[in-house]
Amino acid sequence: MGQDLPSGPLAVYVHIPFCLSRCGYCSFFSLPFSAGALAGYLDCLLQEIGLFRRRLGGRISAKTLYFGGGTPSLLDAGQLQAICSCFDLMPDAEVTLEVNPLQITPRFLQALRATPVNRLSIGVQSLDDSNLEYLGRRHRAAQIPGKLALCRELGYHNISLDLIYGLPGSSPGSVSQEVERFARLAPEHLSCYLLSLDEGSPLAAGIAAGDSAPLPPDDLAADEYAALCETALEQGFQQYEISNFCLPGKASHHNLAYWQSEPWLALGASASGWLPPWRYTNPADLQAYHANIEAERILPDAEECGTERTAADYLMMGLRLMKGIDLTDYQARFGRDLATEKAGQLRKLGELGLLELEQNTLRLSQKALFVSNSVIGELL
Ligand code: SF4
Repeated sequence: MGQDLPSGPLAVYVHIPFCLSRCGYCSFFSLPFSAGALAGYLDCLLQEIGLFRRRLGGRISAKTLYFGGGTPSLLDAGQLQAICSCFDLMPDAEVTLEVNPLQITPRFLQALRATPVNRLSIGVQSLDDSNLEYLGRRHRAAQIPGKLALCRELGYHNISLDLIYGLPGSSPGSVSQEVERFARLAPEHLSCYLLSLDEGSPLAAGIAAGDSAPLPPDDLAADEYAALCETALEQGFQQYEISNFCLPGKASHHNLAYWQSEPWLALGASASGWLPPWRYTNPADLQAYHANIEAERILPDAEECGTERTAADYLMMGLRLMKGIDLTDYQARFGRDLATEKAGQLRKLGELGLLELEQNTLRLSQKALFVSNSVIGELL
């Protein structure tokens, strides 16, 4: 592999694959938490950062740093600080920590204040206890307003909440009410996900065995999504991506790097990164991850992406954004004129009301958002 890795400030993702218990819908790579296992993992992570520093030619400048998981709020402030201080954070760097609501305590937040973390992404998922029970989450709706108030008191003013829709028994009306309940908490950002179950998840097994209620059919889920978008807008949020809503100026800088095909460094087991022209994924297996780092092997099985693949990824990610993609920029990057190359598909999707081409900007229409993968697939 050549040394042609990107220079300049990077978006950095750090994966922490431990959880206190397993949520019923989870098919992510997540392991039971123990302090010893976490400490061993962090040693390995620090070694991995050291290897990347050598490969990238010195300290790594970060414009965003995102701790995701798993449950990264299992790290104490000292452990978070140890990772943060490995990077030269830009003065305005966005540093996000995904937080389990149950871990929000005065002591936790006070200690966190001493770290560069300046954005919290809280896994609320629902403000309806029957949904929380179905999902296998351990917090309850009544706990959440107090947790949010505590975050505000301790100086956190960039807060994102996760919301899951498409649960059994849900309807467009119940999803609208859920969005209204979330809006009453006045977060700066909402990430809204359709519940989908991979075969490996306990809930999928429960549904197959007839022990758990099944999910709504696709057409109902599509109506729920439409209601969700409409209500979020009524509540003063802007939709800037298929699943993401924010108050003005509060879009996630880190996630924008993914959608705008900017380079990102991914660290930790199962994390996937993009250091053009390389895409890589660390093993979703702790032993294999440790073995790679021991052998000083970073960017495992990296795939070198040529123009074809990079242009396809750019379309796939960029069209998720409401602002769409600028075809002049696309042509400058890839030397291709999409409007000519894909004239037939653009016309057909335009006639179906799924794509909008205005001046040089191509974007999905509102009705295409729920079926974005198939619509974008037509263009690839
Ligand atoms: S959904 Fe998130 S918090 Fe729940 S077990 Fe999976 S990784 Fe952990």
